[in-house]
Amino acid sequence: MTQATLESIPIPTPTLERPIVAQRGGTLRTKSWRTEGLLRMLENVLEVGENPRNLVVYAALGKAARDWASYERIRKALIELADDETLMIQSGKPIGVFQTHAGAPRVLLANSNLVGRWATTEHFYELYAKGKIAWGGLTAGCWQYIGFQGVLQGTFETFGALARVEFGVDDLRGRLVVTAGLGGMGSAQPLALTMLHAVSITAEVSATRALARRDAGLVQHVTSDLEEALKIALEARDRGEACSVAWIGNAVTLLETLLERGIKPDVVTDMTSAHDALHGYVPQGVTLEEAAVLRESFPERLVQHSRDSMVRHVQLMLEHRDRGSIVFDYGNNLRSQARDHGFPQAFEIKVFTESYLRDLFARGIGPFRWVALSGDPADIRWTDALLERLYPDHANIQRWIAAARAHVPFQGLAARTAWLGHGQRTQVALEINVAVARGDLSAPVAFSRDHLDAGSMAHPNIMTENLKDGTDAVADWPILNALLLTSSGADLVAVHSGGGGYAGYMTSAGVTTIADGSADAAERLKRVMNNDTGWGVLRYADAGYEASIQTATEAGLQALGLEVDAVNEGRP
Ligand code: NAD
Repeated sequence: MTQATLESIPIPTPTLERPIVAQRGGTLRTKSWRTEGLLRMLENVLEVGENPRNLVVYAALGKAARDWASYERIRKALIELADDETLMIQSGKPIGVFQTHAGAPRVLLANSNLVGRWATTEHFYELYAKGKIAWGGLTAGCWQYIGFQGVLQGTFETFGALARVEFGVDDLRGRLVVTAGLGGMGSAQPLALTMLHAVSITAEVSATRALARRDAGLVQHVTSDLEEALKIALEARDRGEACSVAWIGNAVTLLETLLERGIKPDVVTDMTSAHDALHGYVPQGVTLEEAAVLRESFPERLVQHSRDSMVRHVQLMLEHRDRGSIVFDYGNNLRSQARDHGFPQAFEIKVFTESYLRDLFARGIGPFRWVALSGDPADIRWTDALLERLYPDHANIQRWIAAARAHVPFQGLAARTAWLGHGQRTQVALEINVAVARGDLSAPVAFSRDHLDAGSMAHPNIMTENLKDGTDAVADWPILNALLLTSSGADLVAVHSGGGGYAGYMTSAGVTTIADGSADAAERLKRVMNNDTGWGVLRYADAGYEASIQTATEAGLQALGLEVDAVNEGRP
């Protein structure tokens, strides 16, 4: 594409509600594409985020920067940053710029990492109230969120794997899935389920959110009439047709009603913001408006109501399980909240990662993603064709690309996710870097991934629950992942821990690397991709997963940890 056409890629107009939009086209505002790419990623998380006026990207409180003054200083620093300098950001606040070298990351971030005994929700909020900390979520604070598509494929993979594991089939045709929450992450559920031919009912307390999701094409029907919601869903199920219904109401009430009526969903889960009893979850019997008033005036009372309601929520999920539904936790800390509030049986509910995704992670396969910094959907369509060409025999990749093309509207800077493994990510990144150099793509491309990846997350209640060797809570793995990626020459590396209701629950690492078509970028991309997935494979190999040991052997990874274990166990 010529510079002239590139410049004609329209930049959306900022509004009061959405004050930041990402720059499109080929004009550099910074000294190189490495910094321009990161600046566009920062702008993009706000363009596609849930509450950009408050810098919130998703999950109630996950922020792109600590405050607007920090945002402006980060922006200015990126514009001025030389290609041998590194900007240091602490919980969303820029602290300083240091002389490093060309192969070093341009940005290093740490978000909400508190020392063990102090890593509590209460201490987090004390610091938060004083403006001393911010929670980066997983991909909010390090500018890697790409809107619902990121979680869409995770949701698609999870339910696809559930269909294989639980029902021995490839999709969910003729099955009823009941869930809740149509937030930044949760709204991926109805679309992913439709893509797998299921019928879904999603409870959402906010009518505004439910209607916005319908207007965005993520859910087909919205109603506040539960009778109508059930009728539409059950008739579609009986016809074997895919159908998604959002019911405006509380998740707890939906589960209760289904039990009363003797309706047995095939699958029950939940994606309300249960990790946060104050800002996220709305208790049964409290309207959205009442919750807002309580939050302001009687926050402790709201937290108490939320936790009572979460216990009831989990009890109902277990009742559905006892009546034969497949019930799983979808990573929102609902079980921990219920356990901490006196209901330890909450952990009888299994978690999605262990049940459905572990085998993929063990082989280093996880949520890879890339963003066309031009903003041009044509660039992503080119990469879709590349994947189809590179992996003709890989049914999952082919199915996802076809489904994404048909169902996933572009949001913000055009982007694509694909669950790729060791070697595949390197191949795709290098091919795309060559395409940038050749001019097949109109501008550079940023490569990233979710933090929920093989070697990058310790989260004993989600990602690492029930690991074979009991190392669920060992946070060395994500920290070493970040150090390795820093020394491999990524453009941005981040270490995050949980904030809000997630304080003390997790540590994770994030990475972004820009393919600007240069030979230098090719070298750094190769190291970053190989080392990131290689580390993931070795993490699971070290925990004793056979699939990882086999992948490590096939890939020729230097598995010294396994050699140490073999000697310690007296094996040759
Ligand atoms: P969000 O805050 O944007 O949305 C949550 C939605 O739930 C809101 O629309 C809210 O109105 C609704 N809600 C709250 N209480 C409700 C209730 N009792 N009944 C019905 N609706 C209710 O959050 P999000 O970004 O969609 O994330 C949802 C949860 O998933 C969070 O806890 C988040 O941390 C977690 N999460 C999971 C994964 C994963 O991979 N599984 C990834 C990221 C985040």
